Amino acid sequence: MSTKTGRIVGVNGNMVTAEFDLAVHQNEVAYVVVEDLRLIAEVIRVRGRYADLQVFEDTAGLKVGGRVEFADEMLSVELGPGLLTQVYDGLQNPLPAIAEQCGFFLPKGLQLVALPRETEWDFTPKAAKGDVVRAGDTLGTVPEGIFDHWIMVPFGMQGSYRVTKIAPAGVYRVEDEIAVLEDDRGLHSITMMQKWPVKRPIRAYVERLRPTEQLVTKMRILDTLVPVAKGGTYCIPGPFGAGKTVLQQLTSRHADADVVIIAACGERAGEVVETLREFPVLIDPRTGRSLMERTVIICNTSSMPVAAREASVYTAVTIAEYYRQMGLNVLLLADSTSRWAQALREMSGRLEEIPGEEAFPAYLESVIAAFYERAGIVVLNNGTVGSVTIGGTVSPAGGDFEEPVTQSTLKVVGAFHGLSRARSDARRYPAIDPLDSWSKYPSIVPGDQLDRAKRILRDGHEVQEMMKVVEEAGTSMDDFLIYLKAEYLDAVYLQQDAYDEVDGSTSAERQKHVFNIMNTILDSELEFAEKDAARRFFQSLTQVTRDWNRVSMETEEFRLMEGRIHDMLAEVTKNA
Ligand code: ADP
Ligand code: MG
Repeated sequence: MSTKTGRIVGVNGNMVTAEFDLAVHQNEVAYVVVEDLRLIAEVIRVRGRYADLQVFEDTAGLKVGGRVEFADEMLSVELGPGLLTQVYDGLQNPLPAIAEQCGFFLPKGLQLVALPRETEWDFTPKAAKGDVVRAGDTLGTVPEGIFDHWIMVPFGMQGSYRVTKIAPAGVYRVEDEIAVLEDDRGLHSITMMQKWPVKRPIRAYVERLRPTEQLVTKMRILDTLVPVAKGGTYCIPGPFGAGKTVLQQLTSRHADADVVIIAACGERAGEVVETLREFPVLIDPRTGRSLMERTVIICNTSSMPVAAREASVYTAVTIAEYYRQMGLNVLLLADSTSRWAQALREMSGRLEEIPGEEAFPAYLESVIAAFYERAGIVVLNNGTVGSVTIGGTVSPAGGDFEEPVTQSTLKVVGAFHGLSRARSDARRYPAIDPLDSWSKYPSIVPGDQLDRAKRILRDGHEVQEMMKVVEEAGTSMDDFLIYLKAEYLDAVYLQQDAYDEVDGSTSAERQKHVFNIMNTILDSELEFAEKDAARRFFQSLTQVTRDWNRVSMETEEFRLMEGRIHDMLAEVTKNA
């Protein structure tokens, strides 16, 4: 296939240096030939007549003098119907298909097709002969899961084209021709599938908007305190075991997103296997069926070659952008970006680049920024709006947020959901630290209410710290009440029982309603004869409120319990 070839002049682990004759480009795909296998690689640096290649597979058997073929194209993914429900590795090899063929482990030199070729899709044309179209315009649709999958003019086609042929409604496979487009260069045959280079953002849209519309996650601490916006970005740094993965699973299920893309970068091989085992059994609250029907998983483990790990987040974000082009809200969750950054570090080390902080490459920050910049909310050619929201976990060693990956990420994201070891140890889930975390996006609740709640949380924390020194006896009743109110807000509002059917997800409407009542409670001037009485009161109020959280808002019981909370409060309120 390729006419451009080269010769291996050096091998260093997965890094191969090749000498070539014809022009070779940065990020071009190459194949390194070992006996009868062709191992896929990417050009990551060109120096004169030498190219440094990163081989995506196990490189045993590579020798100086070996043959290299350059593909004249960038590392790309296949886009088209059939992506949903798939589990891929970083190079878009379908893992279940591999598992069936060869017992899970990816054999060397094997490249499977990403999109099933034989599946038949029910095509409905949306364009007509004679129409003038451009990249990203819809030519037709096929149903995929619960959505209409738009078959679009390939994003790489520049300028405008006239539709000279469009397939009639009927059943087609991804490689069948569904349209012919014409421009002054000639005729172009269009199928339902296109390829796109993973490292280049898809830009077939009219305009980017500011991310201001909330992406409701139904997790109270998120939506109220540290909200996420459609098309926005956020990061979840946290030590091992603090609840990053559980939080991502909850968001996948409950967030107001149409399509969920998971980039699972394993810390230990077991973790990715865990994701592969757990995800398919998650039930989609929207349909009552498997969440996988609107999910794509890209996974890799530390046992996979470094380059495939590096590529995986780009594969994931490209698929996310593709579904955004259909006017959908896509949520991309990368867990954990620290493993991805480690892959960058390994590659940089092999290239013998001058290292930056903690041996990460000096360009770490710009690579992380470029990844998160692919989030966004855009107006498409036909006026519909689509978005990609990116949430990435960071797993800093020892939970130290001062390290380079966390710090580089914090510079670019719109929200920071810092998990705290102290909170997860105390089983205060989700273990997001309400004092350290922040968000630049608008909250679901009114600003004055939010400010008041934040102030009480901060003041309550201060009182708690002070009590460590002066004990409860040395604390004024007023301060003690602030502490109790802060603890109450934490216990019944910020904490949420992921495993309770009702409490596990709180609608926007319910959050606004309950938060308003929380504010009344935080605001009320309470009167107690002694601290013990105050403590006992808040204990029973906490109990009642937690029970209330488990009752559906549509029931009579919900209103009765709300009345009971108001009555309890009235009994201890000054001048009531
Ligand atoms: P991480 O990914 O940060 O290493 P996990 O998400 O795997 O941590 O969480 C570790 C454990 O903590 C889980 O197996 C679960 O027992 C508990 N846990 C985490 N988050 C929650 C939650 N929201 N509700 C209840 N338990 C949780
Ligand atoms: Mg995890």
